[in-house]
Amino acid sequence: MTLNLYNTLTRRKAVFSPLFPDFVGLYTCGPTVYNFAHIGNLRTFIFEDVLKRVLTYNGFAVKHVMNITDVGHLTGDRDMGEDKLEKGARREGKSAWEIASFYTRAFRQDIAHLNIIEPSVWCRATETIADQIALIRILEEKGYTYRTRDGLYFDTARFKDYTKLSHQNLEALQEGARVERNPEKRNMTDFALWKFSPPGVQRQMEWDSPWGVGFPGWHIECSAMSMKYLGDHLDIHCGGADHVDVHHTNEIAQSEAATGKPFFNFWMHGALLNIAGGKKMAKSDENFLTLETTFLKKGINPLAYRYAAFQTHYRKPMEYSEESVAAAQNGLRHLYNQVRSLKTAPTAAGGGLPADFQAKFCEAINDDLNMPRVMAVVQELLKSSLSDAEKLAGILDFDRVLGLGLASLDQDDALPEALRKLVDQREAARAARNWALSDQLRDEIQAMGYVVQDSRDGMQVIKP
Ligand code: AMP
Ligand code: ZN
Repeated sequence: MTLNLYNTLTRRKAVFSPLFPDFVGLYTCGPTVYNFAHIGNLRTFIFEDVLKRVLTYNGFAVKHVMNITDVGHLTGDRDMGEDKLEKGARREGKSAWEIASFYTRAFRQDIAHLNIIEPSVWCRATETIADQIALIRILEEKGYTYRTRDGLYFDTARFKDYTKLSHQNLEALQEGARVERNPEKRNMTDFALWKFSPPGVQRQMEWDSPWGVGFPGWHIECSAMSMKYLGDHLDIHCGGADHVDVHHTNEIAQSEAATGKPFFNFWMHGALLNIAGGKKMAKSDENFLTLETTFLKKGINPLAYRYAAFQTHYRKPMEYSEESVAAAQNGLRHLYNQVRSLKTAPTAAGGGLPADFQAKFCEAINDDLNMPRVMAVVQELLKSSLSDAEKLAGILDFDRVLGLGLASLDQDDALPEALRKLVDQREAARAARNWALSDQLRDEIQAMGYVVQDSRDGMQVIKP
């Protein structure tokens, strides 16, 4: 079966085939570690994890590289403002290096809570300064750079097709440009490859370079690191949709200018998580929600967020609300109860994979990672007339992509056999619209210390 993915570069879905048979080089832009990741960032990392799992499910070996941005990402647009790491250091009275290592650890904990598989290679911007300088030197030799008082810039007018990823109208952009723009820049879209430390200021993170003491621009790190670990013509590059217009556009310009070859074949972007009213959740707003505050501190399994992310296709914006978290929490509990019931069923062992459901599952994941459809296939499987053994074999196989921890569900948490019988009887009573019997069975279940919740999607029995 072919894997179809949406490519931002061509603006359509296309069959994915890697440059080398059976091997995929995948680069995903990592976190800027000056604060905790918010659940918007984590939505993008969940999408990328699903992509990686789908590639693996399709039999590809995946080399996944993720960077850690620990220098060079500025607070303002288009190379204005302060380095986010230095700002974080001031906020917390720590060094920029301490801030970077603290929030890198926090990020790794977050992704572990979400069952996100770690990349094959982690790389830090601050560990690859020499590679970034080498790449900038190539651009300089090829005549793509110019110098201003505050840094060395890439001249975007010299790169044909600068807007091929973003499809932006530069003239309209120019008219709406902010007044704070750097007057020494030749074009509004030009971007810093290397910035000088401000005169009279000793930054915490700064390096010597052929152009003066300073630090790399944000975009150059991803070009240098992806090429260092994956080569200079690569398969799939991902990030959030907010990276299309500037960060990824600039990565393409500088990389292709340097190598003379196409950079990545596929560019994939996850739509944003918004707060009520359609406003993007952003770290700079400081009132963002983290996994810790929204899930862990409230005793909610963080995998409920992974489950919530599956309810919306990754290319559609998702809106955060407490109700959607509660719905996902219930949905996950329900799924866990269904799987636990299967695991304790006397006939659970030795089932073969249900071929027709596996085909439906593959069709959904290979149709540009259609997780809402996958979740419907999961429920269809669990409600089907297949044997418990086949259902269990199917759902555990699908969990290689879902990553909801179904294989390791605690057996001790399983519903006792007597309870399972009552649940089955009550489901039958509800189906037969025998409300008196249904109420009586609910009381019996609750007398055993469980909570019964009825919804349009069925009944859930929760161990409080
Ligand atoms: P950052 O830590 O800001 O460098 O971002 C890490 C990743 O999160 C990048 O891929 C961003 O594109 C992505 N991102 C940032 N804000 C959001 C959001 N509100 N929703 C989804 N992804 C986001
Ligand atoms: Zn990047």
